[in-house]
Amino acid sequence: MAFPGTLGRSIAVALFALFGVVAAFATIAPGREAAEPLPSTSLVVEPLSLQAREVPLVGAYVQEEQFKRGDTLASFLERLGLDDSAIALLARSPALRVLRPGSQVRADFSGDGSPTAISFLTGRDTLVKIQPQGDGFRATEEQASLETRVTMKANVIKSSLFAATDDVGIPDSIAMQLADVFGGDIDFHRDLRAGDHFTVVYELYQLNGRAVRAGRLLAAEFVNKGRPLRAVRYGSSYYGPDGKNLRKAFLRSPLEFSRISSGFGMRKHPIQKTWRTHQGTDYAAPTGTRVRATGDAVVEFAGVKGGYGNVVILRHNGQYSTVYAHLSRIGVRRGARVTQSDIIGYVGQTGWATGPHLHYEFRVAGQARNPLTIALPAALPLPASEVASFKNEAAPLISRLDLVAQGSLAQLE
Ligand SMILES: [Zn+2]
Repeated sequence: MAFPGTLGRSIAVALFALFGVVAAFATIAPGREAAEPLPSTSLVVEPLSLQAREVPLVGAYVQEEQFKRGDTLASFLERLGLDDSAIALLARSPALRVLRPGSQVRADFSGDGSPTAISFLTGRDTLVKIQPQGDGFRATEEQASLETRVTMKANVIKSSLFAATDDVGIPDSIAMQLADVFGGDIDFHRDLRAGDHFTVVYELYQLNGRAVRAGRLLAAEFVNKGRPLRAVRYGSSYYGPDGKNLRKAFLRSPLEFSRISSGFGMRKHPIQKTWRTHQGTDYAAPTGTRVRATGDAVVEFAGVKGGYGNVVILRHNGQYSTVYAHLSRIGVRRGARVTQSDIIGYVGQTGWATGPHLHYEFRVAGQARNPLTIALPAALPLPASEVASFKNEAAPLISRLDLVAQGSLAQLE
């Protein structure tokens, strides 16, 4: 995860600033292929919290540093501003052994430069505080009270989804949830176009006004080639504003969406042309990229087969089967049951392949077909008894999406 400008920065002196600011409004020129008017601004709406930090003592100060890969405890404590005698004592403290690369550590000093507290958040969301006591230090650990803020961000895609999310500081986990939620409708490796745009509403956990990590994606809009799609979280699933389940019988892409695989997503692969030449779809991706079952299935074949090289064939309900070829490694056995999104193998170039790629086929009654042209069974909609409760919960989230869709910044303030 990346929170540019918050965790990554080291602050030498205590800041008495206002945390959480509305920032970065960049106008982005729409791409040539944009099929509809785009929002003229890229909105970044951070929650506003007016917490002024108090100065405990005159001359007291705070130093913050990030524990980095390759740091030794001693070198890190020195960078944090501690003197040799404190380092000698603290380097033996078991409380500091839980530090991991990326941990943000705060040291409070009194006016004469002696440490009054060293504190940091652990991966278990506990706050460790180490304070001087007698000739040494004493550590306490307590549950941190994280605040949950609902954050909304939006941007236009120019080169890739990750470039667009990085641009406005959206954490990777949210970018991947976004790709997951719309994975039944959009192939994030092949369908994205410059000019596509999106809005995400998600939970952000904070400690003392600072972002710690992202939580769940609560609502999202994705406009792909001019087609708007919306999702709202309800229970543990995502539904359209009308209560239609967004989960589909088949994922649009057999590749797991990640930073590694996404760089290939904007390449030109006209699906029609690919289709005529070999009855399938090729996904260029680095060797080792994870390959997912696009639907619930039983493994019909897992092994080597002529030009396919290492291949997995899945049999789904009804007449459907899917084929995943040229794998470097196979992750399933014949006869095994798999559910949608399970990893079944890894991209490679076995068989007749000139470079690492996944050859994917969608078959109906044994015949390779273009899945885009076939009406596929839909997942169950929300039960009628749940609709009223869903609409109630979804309304405020949908109105947030509407605000961005209307490009109305004034209403957000
Ligand atoms: Zn192929």
